[in-house]
Amino acid sequence: MYNKYIKYFLVSILFSSSLFSAKVTNDFWKKGLDFETYLKKYKISKDIINLMDKDDAQLIAEINPNRRFYEMVASNGVLLQTLIPIGEELQLHLFRTPRGYKVELIPIAYQKDTFVALLSIDQTPHSDIIKKVKNRKLANEFTRLMKHSVNFRSIQKNDKLAIVYDQKMRLGQPIGIPDIKVAMVESHATKHYVFKHTDGKYYDENGKELVKKYMRKPLNHIRITSPFTNRRWHPILHRYKAHLGVDFGARRGTPILAAADGKVIFSGWMGGYGNVIKIKHSDGYVTLYAHQSRRKAKVGQRVKKGQVIGFVGSTGRSTGPHLHFGLYKNGRPINPMSMVKFSSKGLVGKGKRAFLKRKRRYTKIINKIFEENRPSYVWNTVQERQVSPRMKNYYKKIGW
Ligand SMILES: [Zn+2]
Repeated sequence: MYNKYIKYFLVSILFSSSLFSAKVTNDFWKKGLDFETYLKKYKISKDIINLMDKDDAQLIAEINPNRRFYEMVASNGVLLQTLIPIGEELQLHLFRTPRGYKVELIPIAYQKDTFVALLSIDQTPHSDIIKKVKNRKLANEFTRLMKHSVNFRSIQKNDKLAIVYDQKMRLGQPIGIPDIKVAMVESHATKHYVFKHTDGKYYDENGKELVKKYMRKPLNHIRITSPFTNRRWHPILHRYKAHLGVDFGARRGTPILAAADGKVIFSGWMGGYGNVIKIKHSDGYVTLYAHQSRRKAKVGQRVKKGQVIGFVGSTGRSTGPHLHFGLYKNGRPINPMSMVKFSSKGLVGKGKRAFLKRKRRYTKIINKIFEENRPSYVWNTVQERQVSPRMKNYYKKIGW
């Protein structure tokens, strides 16, 4: 479905220009291909990158070889447009204008809905969610979270489960990992819950953290200067910005520490990110440490959690010494803060009180669904994400 959307976008622009006959093709971005080399192929000056906003230019380093990009090339071989996905919600748009090529970031359209899944178990929670809700990622996410709070082998036929979750949808299809807010299993007349708190972490009904394999801080002392965001509307610049990692301010030369055990899969220069080290961990996680003044770890090297892998610097497109710390799950950027452990205390004081309040609210919601035995359905009304007026007109045209 996503493919179709991109094609419509390209083709509609083609009709409006109608200068050439052109062909739209899509392919996976080749591993190791950098954007400058791609520009060279079409004889486009790399200066267009320097005209971009510094933060946007940095995102070029986020082009992922595992994802599909789209090209529209005129019959005479001239490139008219390219669309390359960046993170979950934006795409890099390279296009030809009468005054030369331009490159910008534009949003990928989606809607976010809240859903409820309520079902009684025939076989296993995992297989039943796939069969009845038709969402494999929801089944995986539910199992990942619930396995800490309930013994899956003790679950019997006719036990019940309920999940309240947010899901991004594109043209009627779920995209990305579902965001579970609260989930419950009733087994042997006992209800087991997991709750997502505002810190992005999951807790049981007593406020105990559920996912144990957290990463450590990549610096001994951290000061966040820029948070993670998949897509944020910038009210002054009037466009979308993304920051696919967390920036920590630190002095040049501060040691950078591996967030978890793993193997170094990249140590070198990576466009706007400058000197970068990437470490592969278990369960499909990869961490990235950018703008280093000096890299210490080598490709292929195994590193231990907390081991020094390099030093803070300001290489690449950076305005001052800091560490840009990225986290990827199966190749997609996610918020690193959801996996980093900051203290061993768990929820205390204000944080604990906020959790209990949130817990009461979500317990009420999920129990109401449970008692009324409502079938799975869209829980609240469709909430459209903010889109730029230009894109809005475009969506209207294609019948959104
Ligand atoms: Zn950054």
